[in-house]
Amino acid sequence: MKLAIVIPCYNEEAVLPEAIKRLDALLVEMVGAESIAEGSHVLFVDDGSKDKTWSIIEQATVENPSIKGIKLSRNRGHQTALVAGLLSAEGDAIISVDADLQDDLNAMVQMISAYRAGADIVYGVRKRRDTDTYFKRFTAEGYYRLLDSLGVEIVFNHADYRLLSRRAIESLRKFEESNLFLRGIIPQLGFPSAIVYYDRAERFAGESKYPLKKMLAFAWQGITSFSAAPLRAITGIGLLFSLGSFMVAAWALWIRFFSDSAVPGWTSTVVPMYFLGGVQLLCIGIIGEYLAKIYLEVKRRPHFFVEKTAGQEK
Ligand code: UDP
Ligand code: MG
Repeated sequence: MKLAIVIPCYNEEAVLPEAIKRLDALLVEMVGAESIAEGSHVLFVDDGSKDKTWSIIEQATVENPSIKGIKLSRNRGHQTALVAGLLSAEGDAIISVDADLQDDLNAMVQMISAYRAGADIVYGVRKRRDTDTYFKRFTAEGYYRLLDSLGVEIVFNHADYRLLSRRAIESLRKFEESNLFLRGIIPQLGFPSAIVYYDRAERFAGESKYPLKKMLAFAWQGITSFSAAPLRAITGIGLLFSLGSFMVAAWALWIRFFSDSAVPGWTSTVVPMYFLGGVQLLCIGIIGEYLAKIYLEVKRRPHFFVEKTAGQEK
């Protein structure tokens, strides 16, 4: 079984030398143990880094035949870089993992045994979140629950550390959407799957490439790419308000016919007006979000362009 390990890298010069060393050692070990075939390799995807990332990758490909690299023409974000790597890598199975060595590389050995046992998709799931800040842990776990309650199929506490068989990759290729949320798409593929648990460490070096702003954008992406629940909620809100307005109308009629205090009310006119205006704007905003998605999808823009490759024979 020929294995490819795909690693998206964005400004990772601080961790790359160590990552290359550890991955190479692991490959040598697994080839030695005959768990993977000769020709297994690591494919680094440089996601338009602005530092020395690409030159480090290029250098490594010269020194080591089991290291390959592709460089995207500009920064496209983690998910797209990952897809670029998955769809261009060769091999019978592909494992994707981050460059920062947070995920225990040794879990790959178990992933490969699960693959041999017949799984097409092996999800890496972190055992604990004790290396995360309280804030990250709270928001991340809450987010997985939210997705679950919105009906998005997702593997709890699984990020992008996973093994995919050739068959799974070829199925993934058929998804043409531009709003990529792999964690949601992969379970949609079906096929036999397995889970491998591992410990997650701190980032080996460098800073997180996911600042809060990107994280929020990613979270919102996950919801709007998979769930129409926010749209449906509008119907619910609309229903609630029409019910409310019936009651207000009944109350107004009662005052009009059964009491003498029918003072033309300014407050009761203006307050609901503003309130309903606000609600309507919110609803239009949510509809707009989905329209924006449709707009992007119908354009069928290509996801990425490979600018250069290195270490690939032919
Ligand atoms: N990454 C990327 N493009 C980006 C941002 C991140 O390819 O625009 C890569 C990054 O190099 C790393 C992985 O995605 O290999 C995960 O990023 P990071 O470790 O910074 O995220 P965190 O673990 O902090 O959520
Ligand atoms: Mg990380």
